[in-house]
Amino acid sequence: MHQEGFHPPVEQYLRVAYELTEDGIPVMRARIAERLGYSGPTVTVMVRRLVAEGYFEADERELHLSPKGLQVAEGVVRKHRLAERLLADVIGLAWPKVHREADLWEHVISDEAEAHIVALLHNPATCAHGNPIPGAGVTPPSTRPLSVARPGDQVRLERLTETVEVDIETLVYLDDHGFRPGACAEVKDRSPDGTLTLAINGVAMAVTPALGAQLYVSDPSGHCGPGATAALPPEKATRLRGR
Ligand SMILES: [Zn+2]
Repeated sequence: MHQEGFHPPVEQYLRVAYELTEDGIPVMRARIAERLGYSGPTVTVMVRRLVAEGYFEADERELHLSPKGLQVAEGVVRKHRLAERLLADVIGLAWPKVHREADLWEHVISDEAEAHIVALLHNPATCAHGNPIPGAGVTPPSTRPLSVARPGDQVRLERLTETVEVDIETLVYLDDHGFRPGACAEVKDRSPDGTLTLAINGVAMAVTPALGAQLYVSDPSGHCGPGATAALPPEKATRLRGR
């Protein structure tokens, strides 16, 4: 539950800091402003408050979540990623839309409701984009960026970064080609500029080096197919949807 005087904007800032760190991007005010779509001065004022309240430790340029900030951030990220799975797997909202929707849900799910969502979804390991849910207790598979793949490689999409999660056009492009976490592909070709041509169930898809750097893949050992990470068997998901 939220503490007294606790406001969603605080949670947004802490979640974005967590996600930037997760993707290896230094947490700077400009990056936060980009992610949240706020002006520089707005972010500067809010960050000053968050430093004063002990959520961030700041040096000249970079911010770091304090232990207190990290604890709050993990809770928000957890609710966000669980909400994505609920929206995608049970409620049936289109995959490209679940991140935006979860931006709202992450602030209103109580700890009690969260426990029920975890049980309903059988404690999922990842969000709808393959990113690990904090506290799920699952070690993510070892991955590499798709951009380093060579023709002839077989790959399984494990996760896409938050940079892609907020990019609706790219999500729709991936979805249209069936290239969601769990899907497998063969690398057919690599152009001189590093653009890859993938074959996904017979469908060809081009991946620029910039996009490939945001998509993390593994060697396909288990089963493949969009939704292979889904926690609910399809019949159960359909039944829940039909209620
Ligand atoms: Zn996600």
